[in-house]
Formats: sequence, structure tokens, C-alpha cells
Amino acid sequence: MASATRLRRFAYYGAVVVGTAAALGFTSAHNSSSANPFSRDRRSSGEISAITERMSSTGWRVPNRNTQEAALRGSSEVSPFDVLVIGGGATGCGVALDAATRGLRVGLVERDDYSAGTSSRSTKLVHGGVRYLEKAFWQFDYGQLKLVFHALEERARILHNAPHLCNALPTMTPCYEWWEIPYYWAGLKLYDLVAGSRMLHMSRYFSRNESMEAFPTLAQQNALHKTLKGTVVYYDGQMNDSRLNVAIACTAALAGAVVLNHAEAVSLKKDEVTGNVTGARIRNKLTGKEFDVHAKVVINAAGPFCDEVRKMADKNAPQIISPSSGVHVVLPDYYSPDHMGLIVPKTKDGRVIFMLPWLGRTVAGTTDSATNLTMLPEAHEEEIEFILDAISDYLVVKVRRSDVMSAWSGIRPLATDPNVKGTDTASISRDHVVCLDSDGLVTVTGGKWTTYRSMAEDAVDVAIKSGSLQPMNGCITQALPLVGANGWDPSSFTVLAQNYVRMKRSYGGKIVPGAMDTAAAKHLVQTYGGLAPQVALIAQLEGLGKRLAHGYPYLEAEVAYCARNEYCESAVDFIARRARLAFLDTDAANRALPRVIEILAAEHRWDRARRKAEMADAITFLETFKFSRNAQFDDGKHRAR
Ligand SMILES: Cc1cc2nc3c(=O)[nH]c(=O)nc-3n(C[C@H](O)[C@H](O)[C@H](O)COP(=O)(O)OP(=O)(O)OC[C@H]3O[C@@H](n4cnc5c(N)ncnc54)[C@H](O)[C@@H]3O)c2cc1C
Repeated sequence: MASATRLRRFAYYGAVVVGTAAALGFTSAHNSSSANPFSRDRRSSGEISAITERMSSTGWRVPNRNTQEAALRGSSEVSPFDVLVIGGGATGCGVALDAATRGLRVGLVERDDYSAGTSSRSTKLVHGGVRYLEKAFWQFDYGQLKLVFHALEERARILHNAPHLCNALPTMTPCYEWWEIPYYWAGLKLYDLVAGSRMLHMSRYFSRNESMEAFPTLAQQNALHKTLKGTVVYYDGQMNDSRLNVAIACTAALAGAVVLNHAEAVSLKKDEVTGNVTGARIRNKLTGKEFDVHAKVVINAAGPFCDEVRKMADKNAPQIISPSSGVHVVLPDYYSPDHMGLIVPKTKDGRVIFMLPWLGRTVAGTTDSATNLTMLPEAHEEEIEFILDAISDYLVVKVRRSDVMSAWSGIRPLATDPNVKGTDTASISRDHVVCLDSDGLVTVTGGKWTTYRSMAEDAVDVAIKSGSLQPMNGCITQALPLVGANGWDPSSFTVLAQNYVRMKRSYGGKIVPGAMDTAAAKHLVQTYGGLAPQVALIAQLEGLGKRLAHGYPYLEAEVAYCARNEYCESAVDFIARRARLAFLDTDAANRALPRVIEILAAEHRWDRARRKAEMADAITFLETFKFSRNAQFDDGKHRAR
């Protein structure tokens, strides 16, 4: 009876929402300036081709770190930057790219590395948010519906602008009750409908047999001994989050933004007469030296830390962030098929859980609990246990704590109204906030990875207005390809496999040729896109073709390439954010460290003391990724079926 009522309500709301969407022209446009993500503003087409040309040129290099620091130091009261961005996560780098491509003079400082904060610790989904669509239905919340529509629009843009770093991922929703089949089927069809022409592939029902064929490890009976009736499969995007973040930073640098990682804003500068924010005091964390950067507007994109920056301008500024931590665990590839994810919309305690294939392993998560702010959040044992318990209800695999290869935590920058009390972080809207805190300081936060570009666009619009800036053109990032997108196509790995060898050092010290095998070629193309041949050339010409860790396609040449072209300044920058070893397999990352440090030392001319310090920092960092070795556990806890 309850199910029938639910279905009737669903049909009713469906009709209302579809009608509303059609009336609002939802399937054609979010707003006039972004009517078609792939159509370009006429003023902008010249800009886009100039940047694209620089990106695809083989001689292309981002300006080096010293040049960038000198350019930041070169600003003055009479010649300030138009915009100084604080924070080099997805949002901050998106802001730098947006502002630079509008012809503004932009600087960006990041106190750790690009995406060292939340932006490397996401679920890696480029999504509209099916969950929010459900909320939009049941609460008839038009705001939530708009969020979904908008995110789906941005999903299409990310997949178009960085196709090498993203892919469409089918995800299965298991149904153990008959009513769940029409319920999820209708909901996911509506998701397709809201996506309109931006739909990736159409969702569809899989019978029980089809489901078992596509997902052999799926349990045929759930914890309540209900038999699997069928599944509904829908599509969202998946990304390599930190690589996407680095690509945005490098594209911004190429477009003229002066970007510097490992540089912290330690205080804000203010005009003594007007009190307006006029720049920031910066500390280069690699040298300890400090300098001032002058800017007409400072954009605070410090993610969960944005209140710290707001308090630099006004120590009484009210808190707008409720930090919430989310944990993921990484399990071996046999937990999930290569190309099919699993979503359980409601676990036995009512939470959502994902299990997704990612870079050859399985990522499962996530949790949502209030937390303290720290740059190195750690996964707690009970959070890991919760995830393992939840997925074990839906798998035939014996889920073991000892299978956890890595576990990490990220902090959501949930922006909340300081006047609304409450601790349930799951109920706060994921929409973003752009606010003018005081003259000269704009804060942009909240939102999600998927919407980083539109958050940046909104923040730059506010900065232009508040600082009376003079851009040369409007926003052009809707269809701007990121570094690596040009010259990429899904089959480019065949060219690498045929044209390059991996010259590598034998155990006797001789340089010997080795084949560029398909796994390495595919990995290079999915990681560097059209620039993969440059990495392959380093492997071939400089004898850096050996793999860094057994069982992973990462090559020594990548360390040298990232040091030269991607502002990779430390061992952690490499193992965590250029390559993803720390996230995939903490033990393998540990084993790769000595060679990574050796190559970086040659690139950056590190002395012995620096090498030792790098090793110590990396080990401390890896301690926060809780794989099976640093856990106290009882492996019998997660049942076998
Ligand atoms: C567990 C989890 C899962 C998620 N999954 C998804 C998902 O699947 N899809 C999705 O779309 N979104 C997802 N999100 C949301 C998304 O990851 C975040 O919204 C996004 O990464 C926030 O980016 P940001 O740039 O605003 O913040 P951050 O990435 O945290 O960047 C802020 C940066 O500012 C720097 N900083 C701070 N203070 C200073 C200072 N004084 N000087 C210089 N730099 C400073 C920090 O070092 C940091 O790098 C998820 C979030 C979490 C926590």
C-alpha cells in the first residue's frame, strides 16, 4: 500500500516537474550566456585558438617556479594584479583560469599543492546528483531541481574540455524489492530527461541474469535475505580529480595567470585609509621567504579554510563553513567489474554508498560526519568499518579489512548560513556561495567539483563589479579545452605502443630497450592526453622507462615530466597528486618513494638534507592513509556468503 502511494506521488510529481522543466526551457538552456556549452562567443574564439595553439605546441612549457615567484613579487601599489586568488583547489584554479582568459592580470597562491585539500579526495564523480533529484521530488524543491540541471550542464562541459581525464561510467542500482524497480527506473529516466541533450547514455533496466553477468560479485540475496529482482543502470561521469585540478592550474598558467604552489597567504593587506583589502603577505613555504602581492581584488577560494582567510580581513567575521569529513577506502580490482559501478541509495542505516572501479582498483565510500579542520585529515577506523560493513551486504566477496589498500578522508567545504543552527551536515544544500566580505575581498566556496567552472565564473563576475576591473572579453571557459585535451583521441595509445620503446636500466646498470606495452601506453594517454608522447620521449631518450611500482603502470619518466611541466615540487606532490599511488595503494607508494625522490632530486638539484626531509614528509603523509598495515582489526568481522 505504502509502495503504491509512493508510485502515485512519483508519477504526479514527475508530470509536474517535466512540465515545469519544459516551460522553463530547461532542456535547452540554463541561462542565456551558457545556452550551448559548445558554442563560442565570437569575441572569444580568437582567445581560445591562441591558448589552444600554445597548449598543443610541442615546445610548450609553463613558466617555471622562479619566473612565477618573480612575477608575483613584481606587483606593486601602482601596478597591482587585477585579481589575487588564495587557494589552488578546483575552485581557485578555476577562478585563475577564468580571470586570465578574460584578459585580467591574475596571481594565485596555494599553500600546499594544487588539489592538496579536498579536491584530490573526492568520490571522483562528475555528476548532476541523482540524490538531489530525489530530494527535489519528495520535497518538491525547485531549488534542488535547478542544482541538478545546472550540474548536468557542467558535467557535459568537463567531459568535453578534458576528455582524457574523464569517462562515462555506468552505475548499477540493485533492487531487492519489486517496487524498487519502477521507482528507480522512473527516477533515473527523469535524470536522463533533465540532462536532455547532455545525457551520456540512456539508463535502463537489467534483468537479474543480465545484472549478474555485468556485476558477478553482486549478492543475489541481501542482508535481509531478499532475493535480487533486477537492477537499474544509469550513467554519470568519472574523473581523475587531482590530475584535472593540475590541468586547470597549468592551463591557467598558459593563459597568463601567475600561479605558485607551496606559497601561503599569511595575512591580508589593507588600505590604511579606506580599510579595503589590497593584497596579501605571502610566504614561500619551500624557502621560508616572505613578500607582498598587491591586487585590486583578492578572491578567497580556500575551501574548508575560507573562514581563516575571512578572519584575516575581519576577526569578527561569522563562520560560514560547517566542515564535514568523507572517507573512502580502496580495495582490489576483483571487488567490482572493470566498467560498472554500484550505488546503494539506502543502506540499512539509511545512507548512500558507492563502489566504483577507478584506475584499476575499487573505490568505496563515503561517510559524512562533522569534523575539525586540518590539512591532513585521517580516516578513522570506525568510518572504514562502516564502509566495509555496508558494502559487504551487497557483495559475494568476503570483505576483509586486510584488503584495504588505502583509505583517505576529505573535508567538504559545506557553506552554511551562520544564523541557522543544526549539526546534520547531510541536510545542508550543496549549492555554492559567492560573497563580497569587505571591499576588495570576495569569497567563493561550497558547491562541488562538478560545478567548479561556474563557481569560478560567478566569483570573477562579482570581482569585476566590485573592483571595477576592465576585462577584455566575457567568460570563455565553457568550451575551453584543458592542457592535454588537444591531440587526444581514445585510440592514441596505439600510436605510443607502436612508436616508442621504454629504454630502461637493467639490474646490471646497462640501458636496454623494453616494449612500450599497452597498459603503459593506455595509462600515459589517459593521464597526459595529447602530451603523452612527450612523456614517452623522456622514457625513451633518457632511460627513464622503468615502472615505479610493481603492478602499476607509472613510469620513471613521469616524475621528470611532472617536475618540468606540472609544478611537481615534492615527493608527496608526485605520489599523491601527479600519480595516484598514495590513493590507490599506500604500500606501493612507499616502495616507489626512493626512486621518485632520486629523480626529483636530479631535476630540482636537492642536497642530501632535502632528500632526507622529503622521505620523512612522505612517510608522515602516508601514515594518514590508513591501509591494512596501520590498522587494528579482526578480519572475521565481515561475513562471507
Ligand atoms: C568525501 C568527498 C567526496 C566528494 N565527492 C565529490 C564528487 O564525487 N563529485 C563532486 O563534484 N564533488 C565532490 N566533492 C566535493 C568537492 O570535492 C569539493 O567541493 C571541491 O573539491 C572543493 O574545492 P575547493 O577548491 O573549493 O577546495 P579545496 O580543494 O579544499 O581547495 C582549497 C585550497 O586552499 C588552500 N588554502 C587554504 N588556505 C590557504 C592560504 N592561507 N593560502 C594559500 N592557500 C590556502 C588549501 O591548501 C587548499 O588546497 C566531494 C567532497 C568530499 C569531501
